[in-house]
Amino acid sequence: NDPKEESVVSLMKDVCKLMETQAHLHNVDIEIKQEEWLKVYCDRSQIKQVFINIIKNAIEVMSDSGGTVSIDIYERNGDACMDVIDEGPGIPEHLIEKIKEPFFTTKKNGTGLGLMITNQILEKHDGSLTILNNEPKGSIFRIRLPLYLS
Ligand code: ADP
Ligand code: MG
Repeated sequence: NDPKEESVVSLMKDVCKLMETQAHLHNVDIEIKQEEWLKVYCDRSQIKQVFINIIKNAIEVMSDSGGTVSIDIYERNGDACMDVIDEGPGIPEHLIEKIKEPFFTTKKNGTGLGLMITNQILEKHDGSLTILNNEPKGSIFRIRLPLYLS
């Protein structure tokens, strides 16, 4: 697919709709809490894959407890930022870099490839993935992509 200018809110809304059935099976809600109408230059299906991988992990980490996946979309320093926030157990500090490595998984049937692919796609788009722990619990997966300036 050729890269084009795309609205991140519209891509994110497509993905949320796609993931809703799986989320509700696990008593998880997906909510876009904050949205700014930002454009990025990207391969639409690849960036949707990034959102799917991260939201899927967020659902999986709350599949026993239920909870909410909150999404914030905002502009910062010339980048479009998408924070995907879960209410799971968070990530031990010493594993935060490791979970992006291929084949690292803590799941019985995990592949450990989702975050590696996510990271590759974002780097190809001059973007990045930052993983943070949230207070009092859960984690934040912060996706950054350069804003498209027409
Ligand atoms: P997989 O989902 O197949 O395990 P990923 O690359 O998507 O592979 O994720 C790698 C690992 O990172 C997961 O197995 C899990 O240990 C950790 N991880 C990913 N997302 C989260 C999250 N939202 N909260 C806690 N741990 C996470
Ligand atoms: Mg995964």
